[in-house]
Amino acid sequence: MSEALTDLKTRLSTVRDLTSSAAVLDWDQETYMPEGGTEARARQSATLQRLAHEMFTSDETAGLLETVEPVTDLDADLLRVARRDLDRERRIPSGLVAELALATGRARDAWRHARDADDYPAFEPHLARIVDLCIRKAEAVGFRDSPYDALVDEYEPDMTTARIAEVFGELKTELVPLVETLAGASDPAGAAMLHGPFPPGAQWDFGMQVLKDIGFDFERGRQDRSAHPFTTTFSISDVRLTTRIHPDHFSPGFFGSLHEAGHGLYEQGVDPDLEGTLLADGTSLGMHESQSRLWENQVGRSRPFWERYLPRLRTAFPDRFAPVEIDPFLRALNQVRRSPIRIEADELTYNLHIMVRFEMERDLIEGRLAVRDVPRAWNDRMEEALGIRPESDAEGCLQDIHWSTGILGYFPTYALGNLMSAQIWRALRCDVPDLDDRIRQGEFGPMLDWLRTQVHRHGRRRSADRILRDTTGHGLGSGDWLAYVRTKYGGLFGVNLDGPAT
Ligand code: ZN
Repeated sequence: MSEALTDLKTRLSTVRDLTSSAAVLDWDQETYMPEGGTEARARQSATLQRLAHEMFTSDETAGLLETVEPVTDLDADLLRVARRDLDRERRIPSGLVAELALATGRARDAWRHARDADDYPAFEPHLARIVDLCIRKAEAVGFRDSPYDALVDEYEPDMTTARIAEVFGELKTELVPLVETLAGASDPAGAAMLHGPFPPGAQWDFGMQVLKDIGFDFERGRQDRSAHPFTTTFSISDVRLTTRIHPDHFSPGFFGSLHEAGHGLYEQGVDPDLEGTLLADGTSLGMHESQSRLWENQVGRSRPFWERYLPRLRTAFPDRFAPVEIDPFLRALNQVRRSPIRIEADELTYNLHIMVRFEMERDLIEGRLAVRDVPRAWNDRMEEALGIRPESDAEGCLQDIHWSTGILGYFPTYALGNLMSAQIWRALRCDVPDLDDRIRQGEFGPMLDWLRTQVHRHGRRRSADRILRDTTGHGLGSGDWLAYVRTKYGGLFGVNLDGPAT
């Protein structure tokens, strides 16, 4: 190996050590750090991030990346991904990065107050500033058709605004009438069985047992509690999940855990040869979300899964679930309800919430929507997509933290992940024909092995598009997801949901 290549790899691995160490500090802040630590921790985190950024974007790193030649295929992938990341980071002027950090630092507090007081005008100047800075960032990064492309690319490499609009458009046409039918067929009273006192200790133990059963490796990871559930990775052999237990509601804690474990299994499944390199990550946020949704929805809200676990749930919560039969239980878990709030949304309506946000962001960034018109445009789109009009901005355009943190372009990846999860699920079921029986027996090994081989182990070496094409035979689309929900919900609620043949 050339000396230059060794030098470059050492530099990249030092950058990785710095960002992984910053992740440890952030995880600690969200889980165990006493409040008094806040100020020093913010400084320490910022120092590590700054050192990592300076080292990665330095002339030395850039010079090495320009000249070195790969020896192995792995080197070639590492160089390709590093060049891509560096090119993007170096295009954004450090002055703009600082302006964004300052603006979002102020906007987060302003957003919290504005939401609590239902006062959009108080947040409007902050949002206007962030939209303006995001447009400048898009112009600095460069784009072909839409400035929004440049923002999406940070989270979903190679995805375009036009392609998202096309896929979402097809999906919306089919989904709006499906939701209409199913919201009518649902039984809101039945969902009450999931509410009421659920002792937190028993919730924690039940969730931990399921995580062990599905294959999350507790020798190489942990679960802790935090206010907002998340997954973070310090190395392939140290992946941290967090969850939040609600003493009066069973679903958020359990399905939150299962969701984060899906992210964690992806991170633990990356090829150990990639350890310490920037390839040891999910290939895109959409693909990452496909893994969490697969375990949360396709597995965790399915009949075979609860044929195994409902007897265990009855034992864990005899007061609540002893008399419950599987059919009403499954209908309660899969209730379709039109709520103005995204994080309360079910598997079906969730995608409609995301489409509203995508259209809003795209129009703001393309200059077709003025920031002062956001509340009205939001409510109009909610009415069009979900048939409901939020009663306040707190329940409307102020509900999400995302815009105040400056991450425009991120929302679409949630729905892209849902679509990918159904495509991958269909391919998995073809290759593991007795999957339902295996799940019923609590044997998750064949499923996890398949996911590791097809998706996890590649890390960032393969694009999301390549993984989809290799495993399913075609690129991103909505057909598999629609077929999956038609079969599942049609059976559950006894309604005919046949759509056009796909
Ligand atoms: Zn997620």
